[in-house]
Amino acid sequence: MSVEEPPLRIHLSPPDVGPAEREALLRAFDSNWIAPLGPEVDAFEAEVAAHVDRRHAVALSSGTAALHLALVLSGIGPGDRVLCPTLTFVASANPVRYVGATPVFVDSAPGSWNLDVDLVAEQLADGAANGRPYAAVVAVDLYGRCCDYAALEPVCAEYGVPLIEDAAEALGSRRQGRAAGAFGELGVLSFNGNKVMTTSGGGMLLSDDGDVAAEARYLATQARDPAPHYEHSRLGYNYRMSNLLAGLGRAQLASLDDKVAARRRIGDRYRGELADLPGVAFLDDAPDEVSNQWLTCLTIDPARSGVDREQVRRELRRAGIEARPVWKPMHRQPLYRDEAMIGGRVADRLFDHGLCLPSGSTLTPSEQAEICQRIREVLRA
Ligand SMILES: *Cc1c(COP(=O)(O)O)cnc(C)c1O
Repeated sequence: MSVEEPPLRIHLSPPDVGPAEREALLRAFDSNWIAPLGPEVDAFEAEVAAHVDRRHAVALSSGTAALHLALVLSGIGPGDRVLCPTLTFVASANPVRYVGATPVFVDSAPGSWNLDVDLVAEQLADGAANGRPYAAVVAVDLYGRCCDYAALEPVCAEYGVPLIEDAAEALGSRRQGRAAGAFGELGVLSFNGNKVMTTSGGGMLLSDDGDVAAEARYLATQARDPAPHYEHSRLGYNYRMSNLLAGLGRAQLASLDDKVAARRRIGDRYRGELADLPGVAFLDDAPDEVSNQWLTCLTIDPARSGVDREQVRRELRRAGIEARPVWKPMHRQPLYRDEAMIGGRVADRLFDHGLCLPSGSTLTPSEQAEICQRIREVLRA
């Protein structure tokens, strides 16, 4: 930490927990279900499934574990190619490598920042025509904005390619009247500490197929075959959520709508205060969407504003305020530099100019007023 960087006062997206969460943890503790699994897990799964209109939900140790299982359950393995957006958090792509498959990265659509569905359609057609069909598509609902599933679902169906929805950032978002997590064959949620709601660490796999959910539970508990001794015929994992954390998750879920409303208010206020500044453009919801506005994101065009994203970010950081560049695209990561990339100019531009503003549901109006004032000062200077 340099002299210029004081401790952070305002975080990007801190957990929002209180007495209800404390009580829920103690309730789970006092019920003697410290062991993993138990009644809180069952109830949490049922409540999340109902919330996102899925028949089944399987509570897991992380969103990354849920994505890994989604690929295993879709039969993805060595030699397979999986389409995945380049503009995302690394956890969207890593599970493709876990199963020995190869990610092929796809650029963002300019307006939505999400997967460019035209490029996906081209790739699926190419793959089918060349005898190298893609094995799956992982779609990410970036910063809480749902992909264009009205276009993407039919394209995947046409080529018989399973669609996995990484809705880790999008719990509480809705598009075309459908909940994030309910698109595609399998949906994935995360309850990491920085997401809209948290279990301090956890995730959920969502499906409408009871057999798939049962297989997910089996694989997530070391794939124990029915026998009095320990019998294993398949490779399993230790991926289940603990009963204590499921209790915490239930308390968080009870106030999810309030947390989403708070984030949306914060997003509206940023727009009201900053949208008039030259060169500033916000990532907005699609017309048929009500997103959770997990993070309010904007781009700053230096040609029009006279300052670049880093100047704004550094100025906030000097004041103890955490803002972050937009996710660094996978095709620019050392880890994935050698993988195939379809397009990439849109994601490059978003990374170069994009900024995520503090958006946690605990952010106070006076904190937000200070953030806006500091941004206006840099952009006016
Ligand atoms: C947070 C996140 C994940 C991973 O979730 P964890 O629960 O942290 O493992 C996956 N994909 C995206 C897009 C995320 O933001």
